[in-house]
Amino acid sequence: MTSQTATTWPTDVLYRFLTIVGATVDVVPQPSDALPDRHAAICRGCDATYPNAIGVSHHLKDWAQTHSQTCRAMPRPTV
Ligand SMILES: [Zn+2]
Repeated sequence: MTSQTATTWPTDVLYRFLTIVGATVDVVPQPSDALPDRHAAICRGCDATYPNAIGVSHHLKDWAQTHSQTCRAMPRPTV
């Protein structure tokens, strides 16, 4: 792993899980008017999402952990 992964987090990422091919599964806030404490986990490799979590529950982090262990979708190269 390179230190670049650890130093280039977007500011809204609360937790980040690394897949074996170098993509990340990010836990981020996604507040809405009705649900200001709404969060989601988003895979940056395949765009799979665990949406509409209230707060950062262990279900949300468990999903991110499990997905990061199995996803083989590579992140799109940045230009
Ligand atoms: Zn994925």
